Amino acid sequence: MVSKATADCLIVGGGLIGMLSAYELVQAGVRVAILERGRTGQESSWAGGGILSPLYPWRYPDAVSALAHWGQARYQALAGSLHEPSGIDPEWQQSGLLMLNTAEQQEAVAWAERYGAVLEVLSAEAAARCEPAMQSDSGGALWMPEVAQIRNPRLLSALRVALEQQGAVFEEQTEALALQHRHGRITAVETSKGVRHAGKVVIAGGAWSGQLLGDTRLSIAVEPVRGQMLLYKAAPGLLKRVVLAKGHYAIPRRDGHILVGSTVEYAGFDKSTTVDAATALRRIAEQLVPALAGVAVVRHWAGLRPGSAEGIPYIGEHPEIAGLYVNTGHFRNGVVLALASAKLLGDLLLERTTDFDATLYAIER
Ligand SMILES: Cc1cc2nc3c(=O)[nH]c(=O)nc-3n(C[C@H](O)[C@H](O)[C@H](O)COP(=O)(O)OP(=O)(O)OC[C@H]3O[C@@H](n4cnc5c(N)ncnc54)[C@H](O)[C@@H]3O)c2cc1C
Repeated sequence: MVSKATADCLIVGGGLIGMLSAYELVQAGVRVAILERGRTGQESSWAGGGILSPLYPWRYPDAVSALAHWGQARYQALAGSLHEPSGIDPEWQQSGLLMLNTAEQQEAVAWAERYGAVLEVLSAEAAARCEPAMQSDSGGALWMPEVAQIRNPRLLSALRVALEQQGAVFEEQTEALALQHRHGRITAVETSKGVRHAGKVVIAGGAWSGQLLGDTRLSIAVEPVRGQMLLYKAAPGLLKRVVLAKGHYAIPRRDGHILVGSTVEYAGFDKSTTVDAATALRRIAEQLVPALAGVAVVRHWAGLRPGSAEGIPYIGEHPEIAGLYVNTGHFRNGVVLALASAKLLGDLLLERTTDFDATLYAIER
């Protein structure tokens, strides 16, 4: 077990990005401590839907597609490798993504050919046959059968157990307040519980990451973007695929829970839920799947995504402070991008060669 005094690397933020970065590093023999202001895995990574694909993936730049593509091929193996030692099943499942009413067929097909993704153009009748519970006013749909989903709260719990088993230290209720650096090198993090020293520090603070970097004379454009979500408890099998229409989605879990989301709101660091959003999401859900009108909403929550321009995360070393790294700004796709982001972070921090074009994610880009 790593003690507080002996960590080689401090990771600020115990969300999915921080914990998967830690996982990548401990497997390479790095002694890691994770500093988390609250409890691990309770912020955006918990609040998300766990769709393992960007929505309308052809709309994203190659920098996002490259990370998504790499991670999609490895997520099932990650889920399996966490399930056994932790006893927690992250419920990876290839439920596919059905996108209704999209007029961007040409762009979608061209993108799929480029990335070797399976994408089928369905008639309205074929789409309706796929999901009889769904109501579509459409002229058809695009179907991506290979797209998977994961139950992100379970993934976070499994990851936490696996990290502890591998000797990572968790310091919860410990807020990073400031960074200490001398002669262009990181030396320590001042926290609400004292100073923690290490030669490497990774900022993975999600929507809050920019606040800590503020005093390093380098600002990164990461801002909070609120997303609200409703949870229905239906009979298992009412819906089988992730369905996306006009920017909103329904995600069926194995046990009958259906998540409906989400809003995209620029409301600062305010994480409260609103009646207006609940009403709007209910209307959207019931238009898409009329049977949901008779189903109970069991939960309504909000999370703050780490918003960035075009959804391209910042992954790399600070240009002026050696040993200080960031891994943040994954916006709407932090779950699907997390695996590749952690790999790239590990490659850079451990000075390994990397398969990714690191310049696309550099802080000073
Ligand atoms: C409604 C919604 C739906 C989503 N759906 C999907 C989806 O289907 N697929 C997908 O890929 N992505 C989805 N996302 C996006 C995804 O959840 C995020 O991009 C991702 O979780 C970001 O992870 P993170 O670890 O950077 O941030 P977080 O999970 O927010 O973690 C950051 C952590 O840092 C801690 N922290 C911050 N500041 C400090 C400090 N100073 N000291 C110590 N700790 C600190 C916080 O407490 C927090 O625990 C969704 C997000 C939302 C909100």
